[in-house]
Amino acid sequence: MEQTPSSHPSPETELRLRLEALQAQSLYRRRRLRDGPQQPRMGIDGRPMLSFCSNDYLGLANHPEVIAALCDGARRWGVGSGAAHLVNGHSRSHQALEESLAEFSGRPRALLFSTGYMANLGIISALAGRNDWVFEDRFNHASLLDGALLSRARLCRYPHADTQALQRLIASTPARLIVTDGVFSMDGDLAPLPELAAIARASGAWLMVDDAHGLGVLGPEGRGTLEHFGLGPKEVPILMGTLGKAFGTFGAFVAGPEELIETLIQSARSYLYTTATPPALAEATLASLAIARREHWRRERLAEWIERFRTGAARLGLNLMDSPTPIQPLLAGSAEQALAWSAALESEGLLVTAIRPPTVPAGTARLRITLSATHSAEDIDRLLAALARLPLAEPTPSRP
Ligand code: PMP
Repeated sequence: MEQTPSSHPSPETELRLRLEALQAQSLYRRRRLRDGPQQPRMGIDGRPMLSFCSNDYLGLANHPEVIAALCDGARRWGVGSGAAHLVNGHSRSHQALEESLAEFSGRPRALLFSTGYMANLGIISALAGRNDWVFEDRFNHASLLDGALLSRARLCRYPHADTQALQRLIASTPARLIVTDGVFSMDGDLAPLPELAAIARASGAWLMVDDAHGLGVLGPEGRGTLEHFGLGPKEVPILMGTLGKAFGTFGAFVAGPEELIETLIQSARSYLYTTATPPALAEATLASLAIARREHWRRERLAEWIERFRTGAARLGLNLMDSPTPIQPLLAGSAEQALAWSAALESEGLLVTAIRPPTVPAGTARLRITLSATHSAEDIDRLLAALARLPLAEPTPSRP
């Protein structure tokens, strides 16, 4: 029977039902309105709050030297870059930043992407194709998984950090790529990189590490998870990093051999077909990279806060995950519980976002607490005191 147009629900009705279903499952997301720059104390929805949910781990997003570099850069270059890198968007500022990032990561070359999301889509889809196998940790960032889906390669998601399982899975396939977060963004733990490097070498696969949350933070020089483990380009040929977290600005890069970078310039679609980021932003990142490298106290302060928080949380008997990084999740279990905890903290003027499925697996909703070098000892203690008042009665399920 032919359907009349009126027998279809309108887009508004259909989408409203979808939104209502999310609300019913405690999975509806709400944006908050921030006043002022990224720093621990900020106005949120018109109220002063102390924030524990930024990735500005070193406190560089609002650093006067970085702001000055951005302003000077805008005066020198204007704002828009005007075109893609391969058309005429590539400026001397972009080039200088790529050279600095290559030197920082100890690799021949680096290539800027507009965002980390786009870098991961572009890198994986340029390196793997229909008949290839890509192996990814089950907890990898969404952009890494989406990159593999876009590549049309066969994707195998191995159990989180389980190198024995990976070894078994990879044994029967000609693997092209093994891809992992360096620091897992919602868990804060580190990938077992030495073991992954050994598996990659034995299987002939290329190892790619997304070190969005390790760069600037881990290792004596802030060179990230690889420096933490003492690994270099031989073990991890493809290193991706983001600039919007510890470096406090915006954008991303990949660093590796000449041939990798040239291949990406020729064929990474999210590089080719998008406008270059403003050159002034590259100037700002050059400034923040220099500060991150010279001001070791920021990493030291962060390590101190991590220790202070974990010691205090252990004393309270909180169910913390095993994380040595500024990402310190507190497992709640259900989405409702995570939301209730977040709301209880908010009522005390503390901002800690509830992370719920599909960002994390069902049953493992959590508070994602992140620490910054710009927090004070009093800030950490205030958070601990508020956590001590949370109703923690509900049993927390173990990780799947
Ligand atoms: N990789 C990881 C591990 C991330 O956490 C993020 C950001 N949340 C990205 C990639 C994406 O980076 P960007 O925000 O620059 O797109």
